[in-house]
Amino acid sequence: MNGFSRRQVIVATLCFCLAVPASAARLMAQAPPPKEEFKFGKADLDLLEQVNLLDKRFEREGLVYADDATSAYLQRVGESLLPRDLNLEHVLWKFRALRDPVPNAFALPNGSVYVNTGLIALLDNESQLASILAHEITHVLNRHTYLQNRSNRKKILAINIINAVGAWNPVGGVAGLAIGVIAAVSPFILVSTIFGYSRDLEKEADLKGEDLMAAAEYPPEEMVKALTLLSNDVEGEQLKWFYNDHPQLKDRIAYVTTYLGSKANKTTAAAELKREKSAYLAKIETVSHHDIQLAINAARFRTAVYLSQKFVDFKPDSAENIFWLAESYRTLGARSPELKEKELTNSSKKDAARKRAKLTPEEEERELMATDVGQQNWKANRQKAEELYLKSLKLDNPVPMAHRGLGMLYEKSGRTKEGIDEYQKYLDLAPDALDRERIQRRLQTLKSSGS
Ligand SMILES: [Zn+2]
Repeated sequence: MNGFSRRQVIVATLCFCLAVPASAARLMAQAPPPKEEFKFGKADLDLLEQVNLLDKRFEREGLVYADDATSAYLQRVGESLLPRDLNLEHVLWKFRALRDPVPNAFALPNGSVYVNTGLIALLDNESQLASILAHEITHVLNRHTYLQNRSNRKKILAINIINAVGAWNPVGGVAGLAIGVIAAVSPFILVSTIFGYSRDLEKEADLKGEDLMAAAEYPPEEMVKALTLLSNDVEGEQLKWFYNDHPQLKDRIAYVTTYLGSKANKTTAAAELKREKSAYLAKIETVSHHDIQLAINAARFRTAVYLSQKFVDFKPDSAENIFWLAESYRTLGARSPELKEKELTNSSKKDAARKRAKLTPEEEERELMATDVGQQNWKANRQKAEELYLKSLKLDNPVPMAHRGLGMLYEKSGRTKEGIDEYQKYLDLAPDALDRERIQRRLQTLKSSGS
């Protein structure tokens, strides 16, 4: 429909609550500030019912990352930001991770705040996580979703935006799943929670968010750093051609910095920040490994390399971290690990987006493999991957999956005998693996082709 694919739709969800199309931003800009006390009407209660349903759908579809330690951590940081003696009608604060590798976060007006695993893994410390949560909390505190929903004109506009953006048709991968679920429940909620509110409400959420951070003794300048991390376009997909008038990250960085002014706690010592980073990365290591797998599943290979490298830098002797970096390089295949300057221009991104809309990742890979550059990349990536797999197997607590990875690498490189050995080692070392049958089939195929 309208020639927009899932991939392009996902592009628009980047950067927490960031994007609102130009016309929408203008029309939605005049939402009034919340009244002293918010009185629930029928339309509000209907919306509440829908978002409660949405929470249930996220759980039922396995989109909520079900890890007690991660949920407890998010809950603790989120609750520490809430104003004291707060009692908001129909709000139950729940901070959870959503299994989605796209760096984004959103809040439902019932107090459910979701941070995508892709954003948790991207951030460098707890203060940055707090900045994201504080922004989302403000949308709930100030009843932004309800206010936007009360205006029929804005609601119709939301539906029109959905139509303009096209079919919500996730074609595999988890990245599109959250969007698909939300769209199925309510296109309006999709627009306000994922695409973001008007510029004014987004700005309010940023600035009030900085206040909440300061009150909870988080250095508010870390919000600037979180926004800067988000503007690091690893996948070359932050397109400006469709949403060319929403608040750009650079504008947000500018006004957030200005607002900070004297409030900025510039004395946060480097040593302290480093300590905070280590503590944070230790807490999010497990969820990040999970996210790296999701990124690979969603063909976000460069992101997988970027995040895995971050964790190898953090703990260079961790067999698991090195395994994930190996896995990322192997699946990168014929692609380059990083995009070059000229691939990050708007016109190159547009071309790449068009290509992604037309080709599956497998077709894209095949096309690249047919080129010299693709062959060179594959050679460099497979050498790197092999080196890393072998290194990870020599360290303490090696991961059996490294043998599976090597098996796949050798199979793809035509090194049949070595492939057979590695698959066999994996099956021996991981008798309960979920993909056991699949690997057994690959092993059989290799054996029969080799004999
Ligand atoms: Zn927002």
